Order: sequence, then C-alpha cells, then structure tokens
Amino acid sequence: MAFVIPQPPVAATDVTGTDDEFPVRRIYCVGRNYAEHAREMGHDPDREPPFIFQKSPDNLVRLPPGSEGKFPYPPVSENVHHEIELVAALSGGGTDIPEVDALDLVWGYAVGLDMTRRDLQGQAKKMGRPWDASKAFEHSAPMGPITPAADTGHITEGRIWLDVNCETRQDGNVNQLIWSLPEVIAHLSGLFELRPGDLIFTGTPAGVGAVQRGDVMEGGVEGLGLIRLKVT
Ligand code: MN
Repeated sequence: MAFVIPQPPVAATDVTGTDDEFPVRRIYCVGRNYAEHAREMGHDPDREPPFIFQKSPDNLVRLPPGSEGKFPYPPVSENVHHEIELVAALSGGGTDIPEVDALDLVWGYAVGLDMTRRDLQGQAKKMGRPWDASKAFEHSAPMGPITPAADTGHITEGRIWLDVNCETRQDGNVNQLIWSLPEVIAHLSGLFELRPGDLIFTGTPAGVGAVQRGDVMEGGVEGLGLIRLKVT
C-alpha cells in the first residue's frame, strides 16, 4: 500500500526554547469570548453565549521566536482584521470532559492571531452562510511558539494586547474570558472528540480593526513573550 499522491506535510509549530515541534491536528476557535468585544461586534454578551468555529491546521503560520514574521494580505477581502488570542495546545483528548479535569489536557500555551476577512464574514452573516472563507483562509492563523504549561503554570490571568505600528489597538486581560479555558474544553468536548494536537484559540478582547500592507503587528500575552509580524 502506498499513497497515490505525495503525503501532505503534518502541520506543526515550534516549542519555546527547543528544536522540538508540536504537531497540529485541528484548530478550534471561540467566538465572542470577551464581553467588550461581543459588544463592539453588535451583540449582547448577557444574551448570546460564546460559540465555536474551526480553522484548518495548514492555515497556521509559524512566527519565528525573536524575529519578525509575515502575514501575506489575502485576496478578495478589503477589510482584514486582527484578533489577538491566547492559544491552548492539547496533549490529551476525549469527549464530555468535566471542567475539573480539563486543564490536565493542556500541554502548553501560545500567542496567536485569528486573522479575519471581516467583509466576507459580514456578508456570510447577513446571508446565513458559512464563515469559512472569512476565517479559514491561507495564513489566517499566525502563532508564536508553544510554551509548556510545565514552565508557566496554567495561564488564567495576564495582559493580552496588540499594537499596530506601535499604537495599542487591543488591550485586555485573559481573566476576562466569558468561558474560562476549562469551560471551553468541557463545552468543546461535548460537541467534538478532542485529541492530542488540537489547538484552541480562546477568543479576542475588544479593539479589533483593519490592517494594511506594510503594517507591523506586535502583541503578546503576559508570560508568553511577543509575536511580531509584518503585513505583506
Ligand atoms: Mn477570534
């Protein structure tokens, strides 16, 4: 038995301070998981709970630690937004995972960007169509290296921010998550079977906005270092 075409590469990303890699199976994202961001998108966080969507593993862009990466501006859209997010990387899985056991599945944390073609998302919402073209496009998931939870502890608070051309656009704290990470994992594992290699983008604080070619985005989560990338 052989593959009839060359096997596609395994999506993977870097691990802080080593040459090791973390293989990526699925990318889950949580929508409207910070109240101020839900409001800026025109929704009431008291009435509409967060929700889940996915990106493709090969949408991932590995940002080199300590140097500037690239985000190629995607075609079709004229309104591409940044969403800085805390990313959790799973080393375990299962279904119907109780909140109290959820953090045992988390191997590490990273800083990621859920880049979004906001104009296409708006059209999809209006027409009741899928979001994929607005969320799961090429290079739509830039992220920094994964830092093991064994080194940082579980990240339940700390500043999360994004600057564009040295001007702060997003500034929040991961303790403002509407669904905490254990709640996200419990909820997700009721909908899907989680497995090692899954990433969870946990949602973005308020201040999302458009980027243009030439812009430099720099951001981070306290305790996880910086990501820096140029829109090309
Ligand atoms: Mn997002």
